[in-house]
Amino acid sequence: MAQITTAPAAETRDVTKIERIGAHSHIRGLGLNEHLEPRPAASQGMVGQAKARKAAGVILRMVKEGRIAGRAVLMAGPPSTGKTAIAMGMAQSLGPDVPFTSISASEVFSLEMSKTEALTQAFRRSIGVRIKEESEIIEGEVVEIQIDRSLTGATKTGKLTIKTTDMETVYDLGNKMIDGLTREKVIAGDVIHVDKSTGKVSKLGRSFTRARDYDAMGADTRFVQCPEGELQVRKEVVHTVSLHEIDVINSRTQGFLALFAGDTGEIKSELRESINAKVADWREEGKAEIVPGVIFIDEVHMLDIECFSFLNRAMETDLSPIVIMASNRGITRIRGTRYKSPHGIPIDLLDRALIISTEKYSQDEIKSILRIRADEEDVALSAAALDILTKIGAETSLRYAIQLITAAHLVARRRKVKEVDIVDVRRVYSLFIDERRSVQYLQEYENLYVG
Ligand code: ATP
Repeated sequence: MAQITTAPAAETRDVTKIERIGAHSHIRGLGLNEHLEPRPAASQGMVGQAKARKAAGVILRMVKEGRIAGRAVLMAGPPSTGKTAIAMGMAQSLGPDVPFTSISASEVFSLEMSKTEALTQAFRRSIGVRIKEESEIIEGEVVEIQIDRSLTGATKTGKLTIKTTDMETVYDLGNKMIDGLTREKVIAGDVIHVDKSTGKVSKLGRSFTRARDYDAMGADTRFVQCPEGELQVRKEVVHTVSLHEIDVINSRTQGFLALFAGDTGEIKSELRESINAKVADWREEGKAEIVPGVIFIDEVHMLDIECFSFLNRAMETDLSPIVIMASNRGITRIRGTRYKSPHGIPIDLLDRALIISTEKYSQDEIKSILRIRADEEDVALSAAALDILTKIGAETSLRYAIQLITAAHLVARRRKVKEVDIVDVRRVYSLFIDERRSVQYLQEYENLYVG
């Protein structure tokens, strides 16, 4: 392959994924302090579930120390108890460009591609490649240059930092004498000239003059003494794309437009191998870093034995994201076998899983979560509406109550009022039934449905 392209990530999330992640947009981390204790009250959008969050924090520490290889995490607990939210919080705590992929195990079974291909794609979506590229500064772009000094032993060493609004480049000037700090604006095409004999750093024909001149001008600047030479001002662009995006962009049959359609089809294994090799080269040359992300597999009991062996194998490789599985099942049959096991997960995989359990929320916790969600969606709720939603959340499910916020807001808007009140909640509660009422309804009218 001549060249591997890494065009910046196009937004490729499909609709179900946007919905699933949107529901957690208020989650910005695990809300733990440095001792891994949950901060009191809501923190980073997280409420309650203290033990599970703490456990998640311990796992993150293991991840950061590189001690998680070959292991998986299993979130076990009743529906709507924050399993996805905590997995998302873990990904957020790892950093802003750490990929988080959420799939439901049943998505793996489709007619379009084999289940191992679907899993491979999900895995590769969860591995980021942070690529550093140099680029020219665009005409007219204003960058800030800063010469900073630090002391190492008797020698003063220096760094020249060139900053634009969204990025920063540091040129190490090594063991050269630099004294002071100066800031100047430079623009596209500027060449910075550093003259050792005069101690001047100049640009655009103008010069940064000696300290006393600056002092006289009242500027917070000191004398700069640097080696002779010229530095062309260029900026370093860092972007993170997923391995899957690189695969798709380079796939001859798909082409990068497939990213927009979300219809990526199967990708040839030779292509993946050549991309892995290229990424390995970039890593060696210091041009790229691997950013292992998080793959969250909901309803993991829906996977079959072949998928589980795929997981086992994939987790062993050095390009593995953190695998977080979730299940709300007890002992159930492992799909594709006659055997039963906890959560329908084979024992060998369970063996290497760190299990975090989540518990049902108290009314107060439900109330806090609903309040956070209403804020997140810019919905004003009256105290009475919040109370009734809390009751609904406790009796049905938290997720159902959260969904009612959006719907009730629409109804309130039609009434031309700013605040959602009890009438709006009542209206949507009767319009949209929750799971239990839906089941009841089905049982009552069973004979009217095609069996
Ligand atoms: P399921 O088993 O049905 O997949 P789940 O355990 O993954 O459910 P979530 O989807 O994480 O549950 O939770 C339902 C909703 O409640 C989401 O919008 C989630 O962001 C929110 N939520 C859950 N727990 C918390 C929490 N501790 N703090 C803040 N928000 C939460």
